[in-house]
Amino acid sequence: MNSGLIGKIEKAKRYAQERSRIHVSGLKADFDGENDHHEVSFESENWRCTCDFFVGWGACAHTMALEHILEGMLPKSALNLQTA
Ligand SMILES: [Zn+2]
Repeated sequence: MNSGLIGKIEKAKRYAQERSRIHVSGLKADFDGENDHHEVSFESENWRCTCDFFVGWGACAHTMALEHILEGMLPKSALNLQTA
């Protein structure tokens, strides 16, 4: 394998452990919930979800699941989780 590529692979492994380097600014995801399919998005530091719960609360299990997955890579203003 090309030695330059090997170096990049090693760097990628290190970067993957250093989440504070990564600042997620937007994403879209299709989420298979227990009862339905939902579309979740994150844009301009705001979450959106097509589920009924999100409409009333501005957060839901789907957005909070993504907060867990993206831990350390989201702006503080986008966090709804109260991590205990
Ligand atoms: Zn939802």
